[in-house]
Amino acid sequence: MQTYSNSVYGESVETPEHQEIFNPATGDSLGLAPISSESDVGSAVNAARKAQPDWARTSDQERRDAVVRVAQVLEENSEYLAELITREQGKPLSGPGSRFEMQASVGWTQVPAALELPPEIVYEDEERKDTLHRVPLGVVAAIAPWNWPLMIAIWQIIPSIRMGNTVVLKPSEYTPIATLEMVRLINQVLPPGVLNTVSGDGRIGAALTSHPDIDKIMFTGSEATGRRIIEASTRNLAPITLELGGNDAAIVLPGTDASAIAEGLFWGAFLNMGQTCACIKRLYVHESDYEAVVNALSNLAQQMPIGDGMDENNLIGPLQNKMQYDKVKDLVADARANGCEIMEFGTVPDTGYFLPLTLVGNIRDGQRLVDEEQFGPALPIIRYQSLDEAVASANRLDAGLGASVWADDPEQAQQVAVRLEAGTVWINQHGAIHPMVPFGGNKASGYGVEFGLEGLKAVTQPRVISIKK
Ligand code: NDP
Repeated sequence: MQTYSNSVYGESVETPEHQEIFNPATGDSLGLAPISSESDVGSAVNAARKAQPDWARTSDQERRDAVVRVAQVLEENSEYLAELITREQGKPLSGPGSRFEMQASVGWTQVPAALELPPEIVYEDEERKDTLHRVPLGVVAAIAPWNWPLMIAIWQIIPSIRMGNTVVLKPSEYTPIATLEMVRLINQVLPPGVLNTVSGDGRIGAALTSHPDIDKIMFTGSEATGRRIIEASTRNLAPITLELGGNDAAIVLPGTDASAIAEGLFWGAFLNMGQTCACIKRLYVHESDYEAVVNALSNLAQQMPIGDGMDENNLIGPLQNKMQYDKVKDLVADARANGCEIMEFGTVPDTGYFLPLTLVGNIRDGQRLVDEEQFGPALPIIRYQSLDEAVASANRLDAGLGASVWADDPEQAQQVAVRLEAGTVWINQHGAIHPMVPFGGNKASGYGVEFGLEGLKAVTQPRVISIKK
């Protein structure tokens, strides 16, 4: 059985303890991942600290070139890493699956390589000139989740190193192997210590984020852990970028052609089996269009092949882990017990954490499947009577990552979009993130943004040079 290792100061480092990782589609063993201790966290942070001043002193062009080389490594190893993602995370190779995740990882590496944050003159008169420089923060602690394990790790790593920081990355304990392999490959083209990993089994996140030598924390995951990270950061006062998921609402405006929007709604809700921070998690449809929208989504759901993602014909895979599988089942069972209409589609294999694609009708605000983030393939479809009522429903929860409005007329949709409380409101698309476009949440979905120039600024601190003339 293959044993995977942490990367610390450019070396593969063994740990005495390991955990076995299993394929969520088949139950097959994939190998052993390290269980790091607090002392391993200390070694990784020390390595990143040691490497950081030299890395920050390299020229902007050298760091851009290094990031371009990282993109090449990702491209060259795309198929190898995509297969590892499918085996470990579950999303299929095909469709918007693991090959798509690798393409996105390459794109989110190339774009920061091409961006620049030059010094900016913020004030000048006859007596003085003030120039704002963006300097690195130091050592970044990155805690990556299990839903898009490589792509989200890339979102955290690349802007950080592009701007002269070094990184200690903790992959999710559910999906460490593909990430450790990606880092091992990337490290072939980076100086030692610029990118380090600590993989664990559920005990070391706090040791990393509260470490006194951490200067910035990036976290994507649950709100509860986000709150714990804020508490942990009181030890180091590190600024934090928190992406804490959401409970995104989509509103279909009255009279919208259901067949034109069905595919966008479907993948907006079921991308990665719904295990995506900015998926549609509540769908509000005007009562006059309800049947048409449910029928259009049902037709699509019926056609989706479900199974082991290594089979290129399958477009829908399993849930990634038992925790999430149980959570989604529990929410659907609660809806069923409360008289909702449960519409299930697809033939589900006997092994693995597979669930049918599920549309849930006859459901209202206040029921658990609407109010709690399901993070899985069960979409509540709620009828509304007036647009004011739909907007109030969309805004009534504390989450505010994304939202969307669907309409034949985008202008009409825009008037509703500006009333929605979310970091991004999409029109006739959902979750359509882009490496040039800032992305982040409102309310309990977190704070700080990633991507584009704003994302680069978030891993720097300002230093003003003020000259008396
Ligand atoms: P979390 O998303 O809450 O995060 C778990 C990760 O956080 C682990 O790596 C863990 O490491 C680390 N962690 C825990 N405590 C701390 C701390 N105090 N400081 C730093 N890191 C810490 O948990 P789950 O993966 O269990 O998912 C739970 C729910 O979160 C899901 O059901 C889903 O709803 C949501 N989620 C949202 C995602 C998104 O994209 N926004 C992605 C994944 C999940 P360790 O245990 O070693 O401390």
